[in-house]
Amino acid sequence: MAKKVVILGAGYAGLYCALELNKLATSQDAEIILVNKHDYHQLITQLHEPAVGAKNPEDITVSLNAVLGAKPIKFVKDIVVSINKEAKTVELGNTTLSYDYLVVALGSETEFFGIPGLKEYSFTMKSVNQATRIREHIEKCFENYAKEKRDSMLTFVVGGAGFSGVELVGELADKLPELTAKYNVPKDKVKIYSVEAAPSIMPGFDPELVEFAKKSLEDRGVKFSIGTPVVQVEPGKVHLKSGDVIETDTMIWTGGVRGVQQVIDAGFETEPRGRAKVDEHMRALGHHDVWIIGDACFVLSPEGRPYPPTGQISTQMGENAAVNIYSTIKHMKLEKFEPHLYGAVASLGRKEAVANLSPKFKPKGWVAYRIKDASKMRYLSSIGALFKK
Ligand SMILES: Cc1cc2nc3c(=O)[nH]c(=O)nc-3n(C[C@H](O)[C@H](O)[C@H](O)COP(=O)(O)OP(=O)(O)OC[C@H]3O[C@@H](n4cnc5c(N)ncnc54)[C@H](O)[C@@H]3O)c2cc1C
Repeated sequence: MAKKVVILGAGYAGLYCALELNKLATSQDAEIILVNKHDYHQLITQLHEPAVGAKNPEDITVSLNAVLGAKPIKFVKDIVVSINKEAKTVELGNTTLSYDYLVVALGSETEFFGIPGLKEYSFTMKSVNQATRIREHIEKCFENYAKEKRDSMLTFVVGGAGFSGVELVGELADKLPELTAKYNVPKDKVKIYSVEAAPSIMPGFDPELVEFAKKSLEDRGVKFSIGTPVVQVEPGKVHLKSGDVIETDTMIWTGGVRGVQQVIDAGFETEPRGRAKVDEHMRALGHHDVWIIGDACFVLSPEGRPYPPTGQISTQMGENAAVNIYSTIKHMKLEKFEPHLYGAVASLGRKEAVANLSPKFKPKGWVAYRIKDASKMRYLSSIGALFKK
């Protein structure tokens, strides 16, 4: 009888897992059920674009019905509430599902590091809906400035200068001047701050590329505050450890990720930030019927460093989990998760990017921007969504 495989989350990891398992297994081997709270797949790696209005939300979503087509994958649009690993069931908003094998690919939540006021008074950017909220708020700031004339309405702070923070700052630097023209606001009133606790922006990136990125953004007016942790946020104010206070109506926090609550509540073994510990085959520790993949898990490289939470690694985890579920069904040897790291490309707005591809190949500027575009196209093609919406 076919094994019931329930996959929670249709992001990079979960969707890839479902598609790969469908390629390997026949319907006699596995009944595949994919659960997601929306009926679309989000290109989270592009969220900074709709967050400033550079693209529409529809440009970075893909209909799951279009991707799944006539494939024998059952899609359930619902919210995952909890997992009962002993009963082998998942509680959804509207029903309960049982499983033989479970894949948890619910992504991550935002880490606020216990900083007072940060959660309450900042925007986060982890979904298309959150990006839309940021865009609407930015427009409102410009719109209302004509009436209220408070400088804090045109001061934008991005907390965290990792990958997503820098990409967002780049988009803001390119888009806000357009809004000054639209709302007839003096350009010099607009301020963009990038605040980072670590001693450098974009940790892990090649120093030459980091320098290029910093200069490119500074040339477009971005002010960096590096090595200065945010210590408190209150309405209208961001307090830094240096003692500086930035008066702003807009704090966008991109400074950290943590695991998802459903994994913690289910009692799976996690590291201190709630990401699940998994074995070399991506199974939850001590649970050979549960795979936890993507940002929801924590995996160390052979050098002992955690792999970064990226779309690239998440899809590879999805592929590995699919192979190992199939091998489990067929009583075959499992495969170790050994990712191929192809480097990373961070955009710096509408025209430039930096690409950390290899020690010898580190393109920057327009060429890197085209590489970023090409990698998005390659990804869409790999999930069969290049011409589907
Ligand atoms: C702004 C930004 C830029 C980034 N840029 C890059 C980049 O350039 N390159 C790169 O490699 N990585 C980048 N990343 C990181 C990358 O997006 C993540 O590592 C990746 O999305 C993780 O994939 P995932 O499948 O684990 O989770 P997600 O892609 O987050 O997917 C999780 C899925 O689960 C669903 N879900 C969540 N909770 C529930 C629930 N309770 N019930 C039902 N469904 C639920 C969500 O709707 C979603 O579909 C970026 C991240 C951000 C935020």
